[in-house]
Amino acid sequence: MENRIGIGYDIHRLVEGRALLLGGVDIPYIKGLFGHSDADVLIHAVCDALLGAIGGNDIGENFPDTDPEYQDISSIELLKKVVAEVKAKGYIISNVDTVLIAEEPNLSAFKKQIQNNLASVMGISDNCVGVKAKTNEGICATGKKEAIASYAVALLTKEI
Ligand code: MG
Repeated sequence: MENRIGIGYDIHRLVEGRALLLGGVDIPYIKGLFGHSDADVLIHAVCDALLGAIGGNDIGENFPDTDPEYQDISSIELLKKVVAEVKAKGYIISNVDTVLIAEEPNLSAFKKQIQNNLASVMGISDNCVGVKAKTNEGICATGKKEAIASYAVALLTKEI
């Protein structure tokens, strides 16, 4: 078996007048994340982890924010494209682990739904997807509620 790991990171600014989508879940909050797509910071980190594991281009190169095709697109659709690219190269997604960094809102009630969503899109079991939510203890942009950030790692395997 060949094993591949990948890491992804993303951060988006919190602004008024936008929906807050994390892992494809629409989370009630006074602000949402700003971006060209739906700005789902968690899915963007997962996409980059998967793309990194296959030695592919990063999410910004795959889905440029200058391309009108990706304006306001659901990041679930981007993840589907990335998963298809991973599978086309013969890899199986063994597991994906993630960290969300948000001072607000409290995400504990949404973690299970986010886990289900990510697992479903990637075609893997819920117990192969980790979702952890942290605050940033009031410091830096995430801690000051100016942004939400996310980290992700992915492990892929292929029989050789
Ligand atoms: Mg992004």
